[in-house]
Amino acid sequence: ACSGCITSAETVMLEKQSLDEFLSNINNGKTVIVSLSPQSRASIAVHYGLSPVQVFRKLTTLFKSLGVNAIYDTSCSRDLSLIESCNEFISRYKQSRLDDKESKSFLPMISSACPGWICYAEKTLGSFVLPYISSVKSPQQSIGAIIKHHLCHKLGVRPSDIYHVTVMPCYDKKLEASRDDFVFQDQDQMTTEVDSVLTTGEVIDLIKLKAVDFSNLDESPLDKILSNVSEEGNLFGVRGSSGGYADTIFRYAAKTLFGHDIRGPLDFRTVRNSDFQEVTLEVDGKTVLKFALCYGFRNLQNVVRKLKIGKSDYDYLEIMACPSGCLNGGGQLKPKPGQSGKDLIQALETAYMENVLVTDPFENPIVRILYDEWLEHPGSEKAKRHIHTEYHPIVKSITSQLNNW
Ligand code: SF4
Repeated sequence: ACSGCITSAETVMLEKQSLDEFLSNINNGKTVIVSLSPQSRASIAVHYGLSPVQVFRKLTTLFKSLGVNAIYDTSCSRDLSLIESCNEFISRYKQSRLDDKESKSFLPMISSACPGWICYAEKTLGSFVLPYISSVKSPQQSIGAIIKHHLCHKLGVRPSDIYHVTVMPCYDKKLEASRDDFVFQDQDQMTTEVDSVLTTGEVIDLIKLKAVDFSNLDESPLDKILSNVSEEGNLFGVRGSSGGYADTIFRYAAKTLFGHDIRGPLDFRTVRNSDFQEVTLEVDGKTVLKFALCYGFRNLQNVVRKLKIGKSDYDYLEIMACPSGCLNGGGQLKPKPGQSGKDLIQALETAYMENVLVTDPFENPIVRILYDEWLEHPGSEKAKRHIHTEYHPIVKSITSQLNNW
C-alpha cells in the first residue's frame, strides 16, 4: 500500500524476507514458529473452497512436515493489542475531559495496526499526526513480543535461537517487522521479534513449490498455546475483518465510561462510501463517543486533512491503508478468472467469520495467563515496554527534497 515511499534500503529488507530465506532457515538448528493471520487463513480458505479451520489444520500439517515446530494464530495476540488499546483510549478520553489546559491529550486516538498507514504518517505527515496514533503494537508485533520476550523464557530457549515467521495479508508487514524499534539485544547478538514475513500469496507459492495437493492434505491438531481455538476446535474472535479495533474499543468505552452494555452488532452508518463509516453513542441527547472506520488512501487523506485544520470531532479512528481493509491487502490471493474484486471481498468477509465464535478479548484465557505470568495488568510498565512502541517523523534528506521538487 505504501510502495510509493519505499526506500532502497527497505527494498533490500523486503527481498530478504522471501520464501527462499524461510526455506533456508528451517532445519538449521533453530526452533521455528509460524504465526498465521486470520485474513490469510480466510484468503486461502476461499481459494480452495475450504473452511478457515480446515486451512489452519492443513497448514499445520504442511509447515510441520517442512520442519516448523509450532503454528500459532495472530487473532490471539490481537486480543492483547485490543485490551491495551482499550486501556489507552480510556486514559486519553479521561485526560481530554480535564479542564487543565496543560494536560493536552490527543484525540482522536488513531489505530496503529496498519504499517501502510504508519509509513505514510511518518514519511508524509510527520510530527503533527504522530501523537494521535496509538502506541500499541500491531497483532504481528505483539505475537513477536510474546514469543521472543516471554515464551522463550518459559521454554528455556534464547530469543535468537527462535526463528519466528508470520503469514500476513500484505507486504508492508515485512517493513514493519524490520523496524529498528522491534530489534533487541540477546546477550552478544541482535534479534528481532519477527524474523521474516510471508504473504498469503507466498504460502501458495510454497504449496506449488512442494507440489502439495492442499485440498486433500491431512488435518493436524492445532497448537493451542497461542491460538484462539477452543478445546472443541472452534475458532473465536471479534467482529471486524481488519482487527475489530473501533468495534471493541467503542463497546468497552460505552460500558466503562457510560454504563452502556451493547450487545449485537454496532450501528455503523456509511458516511461517504462503504469504506468510511461512523458510529456514535448519545447520552442525554449529547454525543459522547464518535468513532469511524476509515479505509483506503482517499478516505484517510480526507480525515487527516480535517484533523490538521482542527475540524475533526472523532474520538477514535480505525485507519487502514487498503480499500476494504486487510482482507483486500496486496499480499492476498487475487480474484479467480470470472470473479470480480467485489465478489471476492464478499466471499472473504463470509469466510473470515465462518465458525468464529464472537467473544470478548478480556475473556480470552490465554491473554489472562499472559497478564498473570508476565505483563501484570493492562497499561503496566511491563506492558508498555513490550506491547507498546513509538513512531518517528522521517526527515527527508535535502537531496530527496530537491529531487521531489
Ligand atoms: Fe496491510 Fe492493507 Fe491491512 Fe494495512 S490495510 S495492514 S497495508 S493489508
